[in-house]
Amino acid sequence: KLSQRLQAVADLVPKGARVADIGSDHAFLPTYLVQNEIIDFSVAGEVIEGPFQIAQNHVNEFNLHNNIYVRLANGLLAIKKEDQIDTVVIAGMGGILISEILEAGKDNLSTVKQIILQPNKHEEVLRLWLSKNNFKIITEKILLENEKFYEIILCEIAQGNLTVLSKKEQIFGPFLSTEKSEIFRKKWEKELDTIDKILTRLPEKRTEKYKEIVEKRQQIMEALA
Ligand code: SAM
Repeated sequence: KLSQRLQAVADLVPKGARVADIGSDHAFLPTYLVQNEIIDFSVAGEVIEGPFQIAQNHVNEFNLHNNIYVRLANGLLAIKKEDQIDTVVIAGMGGILISEILEAGKDNLSTVKQIILQPNKHEEVLRLWLSKNNFKIITEKILLENEKFYEIILCEIAQGNLTVLSKKEQIFGPFLSTEKSEIFRKKWEKELDTIDKILTRLPEKRTEKYKEIVEKRQQIMEALA
């Protein structure tokens, strides 16, 4: 059984997709997708030897080596043209690392139709990168598991040029900030609490840092309004 987080990612994978799971760790996601007959072809990429071996053992153990190709590779270099990958998943990493992986591997996305991203933090950096590079956000999800908030972003490569997301959209998500779900509210109310604690501890009120935090606080208040 997948974690609620990975299940939410899996739910966005279309039936019959050809999936590259980049940073697959144990290859839990492709294993689930194949075992549940959602897909029958996947590449599981891992850059570190240990997880790569574990993923490979896992795939062999379930006799899925004809469906899941585990490759030791950096980022999108795991994808080969002949794989005809149409769906890329990059989950469980920081938004900065995800942006770097996408930036370094843009040329390997020629057959890709959708990208499912699940940043653990720095979502705003990732959204800015996406909008500057013409990736259109199609859906966003937010969930709470084991006291951690997770955001999931589904995007497509846009036809024509996109306008860069506003600061508010980068931080809060164009869909999440419109829907304002209960979990979205919880996430940002918790962030407000943290900010308020920081502010009471900052003695000097004229610093740049103080101004920055006050501005962030204001943005959150507006997003929650
Ligand atoms: N995707 C899984 C998930 O969401 O549960 C595993 C997440 S795990 C925390 C992140 C994995 O990404 C690690 O196994 C790490 O080795 C791998 N990773 C980090 N940078 C990578 C890169 N540039 N290319 C491929 N894998 C990478």
